Amino acid sequence: MTDTIFGKIASGQAQADIVYEDDRALAFRDLNPQAPTHLLVIPRKPLATLSEADSDDQALLGHLLLVANRVASEAGLENYRVVVNNGAGAGQTVFHLHLHVLGGRNFSWPPG
Ligand code: AMP
Repeated sequence: MTDTIFGKIASGQAQADIVYEDDRALAFRDLNPQAPTHLLVIPRKPLATLSEADSDDQALLGHLLLVANRVASEAGLENYRVVVNNGAGAGQTVFHLHLHVLGGRNFSWPPG
């Protein structure tokens, strides 16, 4: 697949404000935050979309959620929202799987 900006951040070729990293995942601040805290959690593995994940990725997907919880907790968030936009029609613009972790304000439901 073509490398994306998130792939470049994961490999160290592009800069980001990284708040957490390990051998499988990293988390960094969104450049255009939609809430007082807006973090992105990505796998190092270049999965383009959530749809592309399969049963081999089960542990990785669980890990991403645990990282999301960890960085939310470290940011002092008791209430937060985790969002995955899957596909352009759902608002995905960067085709490297990422979890948005948003907090620090109230959220409405349903999302827009
Ligand atoms: P999505 O629309 O779900 O694909 O989300 C992509 C997110 O990536 C958006 O919230 C952008 O603001 C964010 N973004 C794009 N480029 C960067 C970057 N270089 N560093 C941090 N966040 C970025």
